[in-house]
Amino acid sequence: MVPLLAYVGLGANLGDPADTVRTAIEALARMPASRVEAVSALYRSAPIDAEGPEFVNAVVALHTTLSAYELLAQLQAIEAEFGRERPYQNAPRTLDLDLLLYGDREIASDDLTVPHPRMHQRAFVLRPLAELAGDGLVIGGHGSIASLLPLVAAQPITRLETA
Ligand code: AMP
Repeated sequence: MVPLLAYVGLGANLGDPADTVRTAIEALARMPASRVEAVSALYRSAPIDAEGPEFVNAVVALHTTLSAYELLAQLQAIEAEFGRERPYQNAPRTLDLDLLLYGDREIASDDLTVPHPRMHQRAFVLRPLAELAGDGLVIGGHGSIASLLPLVAAQPITRLETA
């Protein structure tokens, strides 16, 4: 199978979230049949529809021959390793991994929606994704990152450093 370029979003807001994100990127690099191609800077963002302290976010680009579902299962296994507990929806989490894009595939099933259904509304996804993919990237059905960024300009977010 020809490797596809996938983008994974990372977010953490418990413990030392920057350290969690850096360690999670190392875990992504150890996934089978996958190679990390690029890592965005880390960003600090205020919680949206969630409780708790600020998040640290990043986006990783990887080439993979895993199917989208295999990749999701790998992401969920890494989340579990980091001891994420989900006592209620949108509870503070140790680590959240989202499959943002899987090549240019569109997937809509009970377990998986790609492009990620809320990514186009989130500065903490669009800003780091633009670093890696350029702001000309079109998110299926929603337009280019360049056209979406002004819509999320009010969301507080700070670029921290290269991961
Ligand atoms: P969340 O709380 O946002 O991490 O949601 C986790 C749930 O979303 C899991 O049950 C996944 O099966 C589902 N899900 C659907 N689409 C995606 C996606 N693109 N990336 C990650 N999780 C997804």
